[in-house]
Amino acid sequence: MTFKQFINGEFVASSGGEEYEVTNPANGKVVDRVVRGNVEDARAAIDFASDALKREKMSKTNISRILQLVSELIRNHETDLATLMTLEQGKTLAESRGEIRFFAHTMEYYAGLKARGSQVQISDPTKLAVVEKEPVGVVGAIVPWNNPILLMGAKVAASLAAGNATVVKPASTTPLSTLKSMELFKDAGLPKGLLNVVTGSGPTVGEELVRNRKTRKVSFTGETVTGKRIMELASAELKRVTLELGGSNPLIVCDDADLDAAVSATLNGRFRNAGQGCMCVKRTYVFRDIAPRFVSKLKEKAMAIKVGDGMKSDTTMGPVHSKSQRSKVEQQVNETVSGGATLLLGGKEPEDSDLSAGSFYMPTLVTDVSGDSKLVAEECFGPALPIITVSGLEEAIEGANSSIYGLGASIWTKDLGNAKKAASELEAGTVLVNSLYGAGGWEIEVPMGGYKQSGLGREYGIEGLESYTETKTVIFGS
Ligand code: NAD
Repeated sequence: MTFKQFINGEFVASSGGEEYEVTNPANGKVVDRVVRGNVEDARAAIDFASDALKREKMSKTNISRILQLVSELIRNHETDLATLMTLEQGKTLAESRGEIRFFAHTMEYYAGLKARGSQVQISDPTKLAVVEKEPVGVVGAIVPWNNPILLMGAKVAASLAAGNATVVKPASTTPLSTLKSMELFKDAGLPKGLLNVVTGSGPTVGEELVRNRKTRKVSFTGETVTGKRIMELASAELKRVTLELGGSNPLIVCDDADLDAAVSATLNGRFRNAGQGCMCVKRTYVFRDIAPRFVSKLKEKAMAIKVGDGMKSDTTMGPVHSKSQRSKVEQQVNETVSGGATLLLGGKEPEDSDLSAGSFYMPTLVTDVSGDSKLVAEECFGPALPIITVSGLEEAIEGANSSIYGLGASIWTKDLGNAKKAASELEAGTVLVNSLYGAGGWEIEVPMGGYKQSGLGREYGIEGLESYTETKTVIFGS
């Protein structure tokens, strides 16, 4: 079977007739074929989306009801969708199931949320001012491969709930679960054209979504360097952008922390989805007094991680998504170690010959790491963790804030003063105190986004919904 694009409510081939294979990162085998969309397909999808919005002015579909129905259908199809995602992305089936549940919850959450305007009494008592929230129009949603369904779902649900039409571009290597999920929107009765998926590359289909005059907003999740390119292109028409970009989240462990909880948070935070999450823990700052105990507990737990095919029930960490992604991580680890750091664990591919066709990389811990090493200065999107020893909270916060990124940060401490200081001084869109993000890695009810080069704007929560609206002030005279 060949997966087709979803345009104007139908599954269609590419106008160029091209197809390609999606492969499984666990063994290099073909999962399925998919059509390769192009600029013409993107233009057609945008035109259909624009027409659908015009029709909506008359028909005013109850989108909340449809999102609620989609949420129920997603729950009924959890196994199919999760299996497909594990095959194309590599994460464990348990992780994929978590992501599908988050997708269902996202639909339900936005089904119940409305962007609210307000009525304002202005200084002239004879007049009345109303602030309205209107849909922005046609939205381009560009999604990466690490959490293909979760990230697509958050954009689509908020965009549809705000009254927009959306054209999604999934990552080239993970389009299958997204396309499969479109059957559910169709079955739930979503009017044709309000949601479309065009496959294809970033520089062709992705850039068309940004350049096309009919798209009024682009919501992008991906690397910081791509986000900068999108912002540059969008500036030609001052197009609205939300950019959810790279992160290098620090985790601070104080000397009074619950050490076992901090170790579990570090382990889960770094190695879930083989370390390929924007909100993953990517640097650890540990107080010197407790560093030896923390490191030895962490190493013991990391050694117990079972690396393997995500479809196997005993696997606790799947492959890195691609061989090129693995090479990037390998290079960061190797350069950090050759710069003087100590390789404590991993730093290599698994020895098991059954895994040699996949893009696996062993859980890796590196100590004696300096602040300017690759693993600290760059985002590491894979299962390798640098551990930095610090004299106290000041030094930890200074190190944490030294990054160009500012997506998330966390601290483990029992001292309220430490917690408050970190919460106020850490430069990050989200700060976690003695807490780990939910199973999917995010919480849909609260805004998420980055300081500094981790992005622009916020998704999720009411802020996410409002980011898909324009604000209009109407003043009524007497
Ligand atoms: P990427 O930037 O390479 O690609 C993301 C998407 O953009 C893909 O669909 C790709 O095809 C498309 N694209 C590429 N070039 C484009 C262009 N010139 N114009 C338009 N679209 C283009 O990112 P990736 O490697 O797929 O994803 C990993 C990155 O995403 C990491 O840096 C990670 O931290 C980040 N991320 C951020 C968040 C967040 O919420 N802040 C969430 C998940 C992932």
